[in-house]
Amino acid sequence: MADVVAVDLGGTNIRAARIDQRGKIVARDKAATLAEEGMAAVVKRMGALVQRVRGPETKSIGVGTPGTPDPVTGSMKSRAVNIPDSQGYPLCPELTRVTELPAGADNDGNLAALGEYWTGAGAGEAIVLIFTLGTGIGGGCVIDGHVYHGASNLGTEFGHVSIDFNGRPCPCGCVGCVEQYASAIAVGKDARAALEAGGAEAKNSLLLKLCGGDPAKADAKLVCDAARDGDAFACKLLDRGCDCLAAGVGSLMNAFNPSCVILAGGMALAGEVVLGRVRASLAKNRAYAPINKDCKLVQAQLGDDAGLIGAGLLAFQKAGIRV
Ligand SMILES: [Zn+2]
Repeated sequence: MADVVAVDLGGTNIRAARIDQRGKIVARDKAATLAEEGMAAVVKRMGALVQRVRGPETKSIGVGTPGTPDPVTGSMKSRAVNIPDSQGYPLCPELTRVTELPAGADNDGNLAALGEYWTGAGAGEAIVLIFTLGTGIGGGCVIDGHVYHGASNLGTEFGHVSIDFNGRPCPCGCVGCVEQYASAIAVGKDARAALEAGGAEAKNSLLLKLCGGDPAKADAKLVCDAARDGDAFACKLLDRGCDCLAAGVGSLMNAFNPSCVILAGGMALAGEVVLGRVRASLAKNRAYAPINKDCKLVQAQLGDDAGLIGAGLLAFQKAGIRV
């Protein structure tokens, strides 16, 4: 059976995995990124890692990187993590020169969506949207098994969909972006502000107890933990965060009519305490009812391997092998 090598370029480590046609990881290895040595050294290490992981039937390579690799040429359009000279670097051509295998690259968030589409929470779905709830809100869209990029590969920035016409400013330059209200960072920040504002409900809340009495220790995870135990104060905070998220998710559902929306990232790991709230809000008044009825909202399944699995499918697509 033919296989491919998937690579994930991270700030600390480069991870690689050999992946078979069923989407199963059959071997894996990693190496330190050592970004400060520059892109040529990083790609040399990446090439050596691929050679260690590949097998006799390996046909191609798929690479996930931060930033924006050009999906056609495989060159870096923007800088990747903290690698100083990565912008403009011909990543895939160099990798092909070293390994003599065809290589394709895409943004790691897009590949996480592709991985979940292939063997994870979106398996078999026609149109999959993914929202990754972390520092910000990452997005990805897979249509009929292919990543949707937009005209200049800058599409699916779901975290920057505006949910408030005169809302909070966002570093992207717009106002009211959903990630300013519903990312893990934003939920934590709102919780700290609400606790510091005081009041009887804040003082008696389980959330403050879980913070050891120190409002500065509140974060999204503790809000979810306290809400799961029924703390009314935390429930209100999480209701608002999830309602804001649903406003963004619902707008995109109305635009794309997806069959599946996946929530990923740390906050999605909290499970039904978040997903249930988002579903309720969508059903109440955040998405067009017939569209909402035909779309399932689910938790991501592949964790840290989603990007690798997606890079694997990209590699098969690059080699023209149907899986
Ligand atoms: Zn923004």
